[in-house]
Amino acid sequence: MTKSRLTIATTLRQPAELVAHGLAPLSALADLEQVAARYAVAVTAEIAGLIDPGDPTDPIALQFIPTADELVTRPGERADPIGDHAHSPVAGIVHRYPDRVLFKLVHVCAVYCRFCFRREMVGPGRDSALSEAAYQSALDYIRARREIWEVILTGGDPLMLSPRRLAEIMADLAAIAHVRVIRLHTRVPVADPARISDQMVAALKVTGAGAGAVTWVALHANHASELTGKARAACARLIDAGIPMVSQSVLLRGVNDNLADLEALMRAFVECRIKPYYLHHGDLAPGTAHLRTTLARGQQLMRSLRGRVSGLCQPDYVLDIPGGHGKSPVGPGYLVVEHAQEREYQAETRYRVSDYCGDVHLYPPDQ
Ligand code: SF4
Repeated sequence: MTKSRLTIATTLRQPAELVAHGLAPLSALADLEQVAARYAVAVTAEIAGLIDPGDPTDPIALQFIPTADELVTRPGERADPIGDHAHSPVAGIVHRYPDRVLFKLVHVCAVYCRFCFRREMVGPGRDSALSEAAYQSALDYIRARREIWEVILTGGDPLMLSPRRLAEIMADLAAIAHVRVIRLHTRVPVADPARISDQMVAALKVTGAGAGAVTWVALHANHASELTGKARAACARLIDAGIPMVSQSVLLRGVNDNLADLEALMRAFVECRIKPYYLHHGDLAPGTAHLRTTLARGQQLMRSLRGRVSGLCQPDYVLDIPGGHGKSPVGPGYLVVEHAQEREYQAETRYRVSDYCGDVHLYPPDQ
C-alpha cells in the first residue's frame, strides 16, 4: 500500500496546525492545547514529510505528534528525571562525572520529542540562551578545573545557534588547554538538514593557533526512516570535514522496540559512518509512560541484536539512574561466575558464558 506523505513549508507549532494537516484528530484538539501549554511542540517540514497521516502507528508521528497520554503523570515520573539540577554548580553547567561537563547553551530545539527527558526545561518561552554573564561564568568554571577533559554541548539543541555564535563558543572552549574534546548532541541533521551548511561545518571544526580540542557530534535518531537522503548528506558533510559521529537513540514503544526496526536503525547509522553509541532506556519524564518499554524487553532486544549484527552495530543499552546517579549499562550479561564454595565437587572458580544463540559454554578456571 502506498503511503501518503505531507508536504509543508514551515514548522508546525500549534495543535490547530497539526489538526489542519491531518496529523491529529479534531476531537483531540482540546487535550492537545493542554499538552502544548505545558510541553513545547514543533514538527519541521522535514519530519512532517516522513509521517503518514493515515497510519496511527507511524513511528515518526509517535515521536513528535503530542497525544492526551502526556497529560497523565505516572508514579515515579519527575520533572528532572536524570537529576541535572543536583549537579549544576553554575547556570548552564551539569558536572556529574569528574572529567566532563554538560554545557547547556540553549533551551530550544528544531523539533520537540514527546519523550524528552528535559521536557520541563526546553522550548520557546523558557530562557532561550544563556546570558553573556552566565556564559562567562560557565567558561570560568571549566577553566578553573583542569580535570575537565570533555565538554558536551547539549540543551536544547546547540545546532540551533548560528554558525557565527557556535564558532565563537568552539574557539572559547578550544582555548582552554585541558579541554581536549568538544561533543555536540543534536537532532538537527535529521530534523532540519539544511542547517548543516558549509558555514556550520566550518564553525564546528576547531582550527588555528591554540586549538587544542577535537570535535565530535552525537546524532539523536530513533528510526531508520529518519536517515533520509538529505539527513545522510548532512552527516556526510560533517564526517567528510573530519568530525567523527556517534549515535544516541531512545528505546521507544511502537517506534523501535522490535528487532527489525532496531536492527535497521543500527545498520543505517553504520552505513552513514556513525558509530552506534547509546541506546537509552526511556527516562521517567512526566507524561511519557506510553512510550517507555520494560528493561526486560530492552535486554531481550539487545541479546537478539547481538545475534544479528556485527559489533560495529552494537550500541550500549544504558539507564540514567533517577536522581542524578549517572548512566549505567543495563544490557544482558553473558558471563556467570561459579565460585568454588557454591559447588561441592570442584575447588576452582569457573565460568559459564553464553554465545549469541543463547547456548551456554564452560570456560576454564583462572590460571
Ligand atoms: S531534541 Fe533532545 S532536548 Fe530537544 S526535545 Fe528532543 S530529546 Fe529533548
